[in-house]
Amino acid sequence: MVIVGGGGTGDAAAFALRKKGFDGDIAILSADLDRPYDRPYLSKEFVRGEIEAPKVFLHEEADYAKEHIELQLDQRVAGGSVEERKLMLAGGREVSFDVLVLGLGGTPRRLPGIPDAANVVTLRSLRDSQAIRDALGRAKRLLLIGAGFIGAEVAASARKLGKDVLIVEALPVPLQRALGREVGEIYAGIHRDEGVDLRTDTRVDVWHSSRDRVTGVTLSDGTREEADLALVAVGIEPNLELPKALGLPIEGGGVRVDEGLRAAEDVYVGGDIALHRHPVLGRSIRVEHWEVAKNQGRGIGASIADGHTPYRRLPYFWSDQYDVSLEYRGHASGDDTAVWRGDRAGRQFSVFYLRKGIVEAVLSLNDSKTNELGGKLVESRRRIEPSALESSGADLAELAGLTGS
Ligand SMILES: Cc1cc2nc3c(=O)[nH]c(=O)nc-3n(C[C@H](O)[C@H](O)[C@H](O)COP(=O)(O)OP(=O)(O)OC[C@H]3O[C@@H](n4cnc5c(N)ncnc54)[C@H](O)[C@@H]3O)c2cc1C
Repeated sequence: MVIVGGGGTGDAAAFALRKKGFDGDIAILSADLDRPYDRPYLSKEFVRGEIEAPKVFLHEEADYAKEHIELQLDQRVAGGSVEERKLMLAGGREVSFDVLVLGLGGTPRRLPGIPDAANVVTLRSLRDSQAIRDALGRAKRLLLIGAGFIGAEVAASARKLGKDVLIVEALPVPLQRALGREVGEIYAGIHRDEGVDLRTDTRVDVWHSSRDRVTGVTLSDGTREEADLALVAVGIEPNLELPKALGLPIEGGGVRVDEGLRAAEDVYVGGDIALHRHPVLGRSIRVEHWEVAKNQGRGIGASIADGHTPYRRLPYFWSDQYDVSLEYRGHASGDDTAVWRGDRAGRQFSVFYLRKGIVEAVLSLNDSKTNELGGKLVESRRRIEPSALESSGADLAELAGLTGS
């Protein structure tokens, strides 16, 4: 068994295989310099210096030896052949496999025109987070380009550390692509209340530098702003070079996999790069979130050890910013009908997203219990009257058919 990628998917697949009793050889080949770690900490507790490196690792070093999982770090796989069951590493070494698992994640996007300066950074790896943490210690004002999840979470972390934060976002509200306009407006309020200088509908026109460092920017609103550290957080490009080189099916920005996460015979793909045919939702989705990557890794382990098994878990993600905890179950698209329930002004509410009367997703702010039950509603595939969801008195368990009434 060869697993390429030592992230959420790859690590979970390896340990799940052992748990399932698989007793063949398992090797993880990872381009990363560190053993697998919990990436979500990198924009939160770790970057704030609240936890140290050992806590971010998914397993102790000894666990790999104990489970006979051969972890090969700093190994980039450049190509190979599925027919010949072999991979080619960047250094020229060949590795053969019987079954291949890919969990390659993504690479932060760089926008054209952004200078290649020492204090302009992106965030994906543990070492990126360590570098930002060190630089934040010395910085007074952080400039964030992009108010997606990573930008918004690092903004919250930097404010907690007492830093001035300027966010420049091209869209009208933060988190618009992931959460839509209305919830994005609520997040704009949350960040502004916490003292973030949030400029939406705004772009950088000019970058100002001195030697190898950026000193500030001129924005499209005409203002000139100083900054001593800039984080570019404008999404990722899924790492598709290797899947393309292997001739795997590429679709919708990912690798097309079937219900059991299989891309080709003896080749399984999960996490950020997988476009998965979801058996419960009845459509193909690609999700860039931690629990999905980990659970798909486990699903791949089950599919390989037990024989082809549809992966049925609903997508789930969370985001912590200040004291606001967001949870999301399911998968909605922009044209679904949104039904709100709870206290919008008090930032404790849920939003259900319905398509043809079926709940496709539920988003909750500080409303964990509703989110959990909302997930059951999504799974039930029951047709629900939108008005039945609005009242906080309505019994969601009953609507999902869990109570037998
Ligand atoms: C800072 C940060 C905070 C986040 N916070 C959250 C959060 O709060 N909630 C949430 O749901 N999600 C969060 N995410 C997203 C989540 O971490 C990702 O969706 C998840 O890590 C994807 O897992 P993966 O296995 O697909 O890829 P990754 O975890 O990125 O792992 C990919 C691995 O593949 C390796 N690799 C890539 N190409 C090659 C190659 N050719 N050869 C060998 N190895 C290769 C990489 O080095 C890496 O080890 C966050 C992400 C980041 C960066």
